[in-house]
Amino acid sequence: MSVPKKLILTISVFFMVSCARNRADTVYINGSIWTGVESASRAQAIAVTGEYLVAVGSNENVEHLKDSNTKIVDLQGRFVVPGLMDAHTHFMDGGFQLVRLNFREVDSPEDFVYKIDSAAQKLEPGQWILGGNWDHEKWGGELPHHSWVDNVSKEYPVFVHRVDMHMAFANSKAMQLAGITGDTPDPLGGVIDRDHMNGNPTGILREAEAKELVQRVVTPPTEEERKRVLQKAMDYALMCGITQVHDMCSWEDLLTYRKVEAAGEFRMRIYAAPWWTNWKKQIDYIAEYGTGNRWLQWPALKGMMDGSLGSRTAWMHDPYKDDPNTRGVIVASDTVLFKTMMQEADAAGIRFAIHAIGTRANEWILDQYRAVAKMNGGRERRFKVEHAQHLRNSEIVRFGREGVIPSVQPFHAIDDSRWAYKRVEEDVLGGTYAFKSLLNSNAKVVFGSDWTVAPMSPILGIYAAVTRETIDGSQPGGWHPNEKMTVDEALLAYTASVAYAGFQEDVLGTLEVGKLADFVVLSHDLFKIEPEEIKNTGVLRTVVGGKTRFLSADSGGKKPIWY
Ligand SMILES: [Zn+2]
Repeated sequence: MSVPKKLILTISVFFMVSCARNRADTVYINGSIWTGVESASRAQAIAVTGEYLVAVGSNENVEHLKDSNTKIVDLQGRFVVPGLMDAHTHFMDGGFQLVRLNFREVDSPEDFVYKIDSAAQKLEPGQWILGGNWDHEKWGGELPHHSWVDNVSKEYPVFVHRVDMHMAFANSKAMQLAGITGDTPDPLGGVIDRDHMNGNPTGILREAEAKELVQRVVTPPTEEERKRVLQKAMDYALMCGITQVHDMCSWEDLLTYRKVEAAGEFRMRIYAAPWWTNWKKQIDYIAEYGTGNRWLQWPALKGMMDGSLGSRTAWMHDPYKDDPNTRGVIVASDTVLFKTMMQEADAAGIRFAIHAIGTRANEWILDQYRAVAKMNGGRERRFKVEHAQHLRNSEIVRFGREGVIPSVQPFHAIDDSRWAYKRVEEDVLGGTYAFKSLLNSNAKVVFGSDWTVAPMSPILGIYAAVTRETIDGSQPGGWHPNEKMTVDEALLAYTASVAYAGFQEDVLGTLEVGKLADFVVLSHDLFKIEPEEIKNTGVLRTVVGGKTRFLSADSGGKKPIWY
């Protein structure tokens, strides 16, 4: 049976309008609105009442919803997309990074020392120098050594993270406070780097278990500082066009979020996945308080199988090309405990977001997801694998077949591709950041930033996924160009697919009547500009729950921030 297209359109417009309440608080007209609804044409206008969309259609469709109190916003032909959602952040870490030392631009050991020296000069002796985002690959690969900075930081403990958060650097003062000496054994799951000559620690600590030795002696921030930092992180996200994050957080972060949300001070949405070791507490917590509301939820937990490629701690099937002695590490070192956690948390209905970067780690977690689903029986789970970075074909097809969601970060693809070839063989690179292959396997690919590991801007994420242009320009035409995505696919990975991953597709992800009014106005139509130009697109306005939460003072919008 064939129904004329025009008739379908008329019916659907009638449906949208008939569902609408009889007045709108705000109408947005003259836009070019990509609704995210499959095969829908562009809409021109949006009407909002309270937190919800009451009409999406043409200017005429919203006309009758206007009364004397309705605010009218002329979009002047601008491009509008559903609220962009980041499927993987470290939101509080990112917030703290905004107020601490940022080594993102540091590209030499001299600069590294200078940065610490200048920070020390502004502090009282004994105060911590904290921060992160250093990357030794930017100066040829030599790791920082405490001897670099001890002279300029004798009285100041220094503890600064590598950009991937899998390594941190401590100076002698910090190691002294932490009690780390040549005699300190490596903690299970972590590594203390040592000088070859005498076995003394170099200052480099790998993975959480080793970093924790210093972390636990760092002066903790006050609750007031934490709340302030959360607001800063929200400002930053809204400026990037982000309306919700899936946040890989700590239990403490979740408690801060709850207080701030209860005070009505949430301006965007957080879908929290606290660290897995709290699973028993989380089961009780959910039994007592439920899993949250539209602003803040905590239905999931974050686990971690392995480390990262940069730190050679991603768990691979094969030894590393530039260190044949290792295939990476299993961060979840007590796999019996980890499996128990998965079984119990899943039985209680908790969802999983588990980090797996290496090929072997991905195989392991896919096996465990399958085992848990089998053991605890039938329901829809939408398991997430965070990063799903290096995959063999046998794993790529499983994501689609088994309905597991690869939660990937496109910016990493254009950043790591500068040096990934040093770590792994060409055949592994073929299944690295294999976004298109994952889509082709029928997997629901979702995008995120991993902020503060990478820039938060989803515009940069879309640019990365569409062009795969390595940030140093070393791969003209794109790195493994067969894995490029279309603009349409990239937008879905930041919108509808993220909503799906969080079981929120009834209220988020597309612009349809009855859904929450979360959307972003951009300076350029991403479908109409050259892929190369996507990275220069500005965010003009971010609306969450019907309210404008960010409005650019610049007519070109807020351009993406690269650090
Ligand atoms: Zn992460």
